[in-house]
Amino acid sequence: MDERETRLQQRRARRRKNELIMKCIICLLVLIVVFLTVVLIKDAAIPGFERYRANKKKQVQQLVKNETGDAGTLGQNPAEGTDGQQGAQGAASVSGTAGSTGVEGLIAQADQMAAQYDYTGAIEYLKSSSLYTGSQEMQNAAAGYEATRQTCTAYPVDQITHVFFHTMIKDTAKAFDGDAKEGGYNQVMTTMSEFEGIIRSMYEKGYVMVSLHDMCKVNEDGTVSRGEILLPPGKTPFVLSQDDVSYYHYMDGDGFAQKLIVDENGDVKNTYVEADGSISVGDYDMVPWIDTFVKEHPDFSYHGHKGIIALTGYEGVLGYRTDEVYRTKEPGRVTEYQQKFFDAHPDFDEAAWQNEVDQATAVANAMKASGWEFASHTWGHIAPQVKGFDGTQQDTQRWLDNVATVVGNTDVIIFAFGADIGDWQPYTSENAFFSYMKSKGFNIFCNVDSSKCWVQFGNDYMRQGRRNLDGYRMYYNPDMVSDLFDVNAVWDSSRPTPVPQM
Ligand SMILES: [Zn+2]
Repeated sequence: MDERETRLQQRRARRRKNELIMKCIICLLVLIVVFLTVVLIKDAAIPGFERYRANKKKQVQQLVKNETGDAGTLGQNPAEGTDGQQGAQGAASVSGTAGSTGVEGLIAQADQMAAQYDYTGAIEYLKSSSLYTGSQEMQNAAAGYEATRQTCTAYPVDQITHVFFHTMIKDTAKAFDGDAKEGGYNQVMTTMSEFEGIIRSMYEKGYVMVSLHDMCKVNEDGTVSRGEILLPPGKTPFVLSQDDVSYYHYMDGDGFAQKLIVDENGDVKNTYVEADGSISVGDYDMVPWIDTFVKEHPDFSYHGHKGIIALTGYEGVLGYRTDEVYRTKEPGRVTEYQQKFFDAHPDFDEAAWQNEVDQATAVANAMKASGWEFASHTWGHIAPQVKGFDGTQQDTQRWLDNVATVVGNTDVIIFAFGADIGDWQPYTSENAFFSYMKSKGFNIFCNVDSSKCWVQFGNDYMRQGRRNLDGYRMYYNPDMVSDLFDVNAVWDSSRPTPVPQM
């Protein structure tokens, strides 16, 4: 082989080597293109929703972390399973479907928002997806929401009724057992079966739960303006509230739930102490019952909003002994009932008290995340004008120090006994109680009024009257509630009659 032949062979080998390298580079480029395409398609199929959900979840978890420290005394994080705060409540209800089924899941999610009358939100939600422009199905759904939205009208906010209850009687045999407390329960309480009948009737009549904060808007300068509630024909907004959800000591053993808890699914439930001392978990009072009802009937809730819970503080909140007196055991402030509680729980120390605070906070956070709100019912269940101005200031401060620290701040006060700080005429700045409460952050004030609706807007407040749906009202004034339900149809026959006169 001569030298020329060798060089020729070497040149061929080099060429083959170069060709091989080029082929490898081309293959690599093709792989990169394929990989990028897959990633992009996947991203498009799981659009904004997952990120939205993830953000919401993070927010709630942050909220829980901020407010509970290292709570979790029940071993659960209330954020789990209850993602979505007010307004986004619907978003949580169909969790998991969007990511797995794309268009179908997105529409299911938007349907849920539309079912709770948030048509604009539903449309915006679909449009925010990158699949929207290519999906006739999504465009049709959005057109459907828009068509329903066009039928909605603004409900006059000064014609909205507000109904309230106390803690429900779970076991009527124990509540109506002839003891000294029977008469009071008979007058101001409602049994679970009556409550169910009332709510089912209201739902069938087209009533929809709205928030006091849907009725009005508190502006940054402290003024209060009318809100806008848009509903399709046949729907009527109402406000639901419940007073004294403390599970007071005096109710022990009388057939009421023991407390509210967050269960292993992140749902808020009641515990109930059975006759043999065992603990049952279930929907034994308003909050968990409504939660379950709204899961089955999302259209009972406007934008995911539920009721408002009016809390005192002197025996704690939601069934937890969170008040400072349970920590300090200050002589002179410990009541007879509290002393009995300490006697029954000799090991109730500061750590046990902290445990109560942490659990109550976890329950409150889970409730807020699923559409509930809280109001002050005054700390000591006082009538401000009877207590006097100084006494009212002390009481308000106690509420802020012992209740707001657990359930969060509120700008709503629901007066105990319905005892308002003025008559029906508008509040003025000369009303020292009003000026003081306004300075403490209260903008919405609720009394008790037997008329169907009583709403008053001032420059810097909203007032609303509430209707008691209890044994007394049903027995003596069935006509006054006939717009909501038929007393004969819901009356619990285990209720002793006559209901005592007030
Ligand atoms: Zn009360």
